[in-house]
Amino acid sequence: MRTEKVLGYDVHRKKVKNINLRINSQMEVYISVPMNLHVSYIENFIRSKESWIKKVLNKIETVKLKQTGYEYKTGEIHNFLGEGYVLKVKISNNNKVILKKEREELLLITKFDNFEEKKKIMEKWYFECAKKLFPVVMEKWLNILNERIEHLSIKPMKTRWGSCNYNKRYINLNTELIKRTLFEIEYVVLHELAHLKYPNHGKGFYNYVEKYMPDYRKAEKMLNAKHYY
Ligand SMILES: [Zn+2]
Repeated sequence: MRTEKVLGYDVHRKKVKNINLRINSQMEVYISVPMNLHVSYIENFIRSKESWIKKVLNKIETVKLKQTGYEYKTGEIHNFLGEGYVLKVKISNNNKVILKKEREELLLITKFDNFEEKKKIMEKWYFECAKKLFPVVMEKWLNILNERIEHLSIKPMKTRWGSCNYNKRYINLNTELIKRTLFEIEYVVLHELAHLKYPNHGKGFYNYVEKYMPDYRKAEKMLNAKHYY
């Protein structure tokens, strides 16, 4: 298989008879074409499909936006440390959350099958997990970088994954990070600690980060550049 770029799309040349065009839920456009098909033919094909591609991508995006609002119903996928778990809601006489790793299940036990109640229990559980894990990751990186901080706070943050007040040596981490992979959490911790030495995102800052995490760009990409920290 050979891959080439045509009109900005990755086109895979394969032993196929026709041009195939697919879009997956990750919004990736996949185009495969016969081995020796002339490039102008492929361009024409893509042009004829472009408005359709845009329409499908818009639709997927809209669905994704709607999905961010959980209903806390059995069958929903909830994330924890970068893994998706199937939520199972059980009514009992106490409130708790149990992670069944081997079954890839998140058991939400609640007294009341009520949205607000379930949301509260789940958020509390995520917060407790973050409070256990983030200080450990912080301690690890403080040792590696030979730094010290005055205060670590873990709280929900609307637009950022973390923040650093380098004068006071205070660091904030977004509770939501507990849903991300450990790699992403480590990156945000390193990023905020790097601000103690480099307040701005200059060359020095990124050189420093890269020295300790050569593949940090991958983490940034995973975290989505729309979030500033
Ligand atoms: Zn920053």
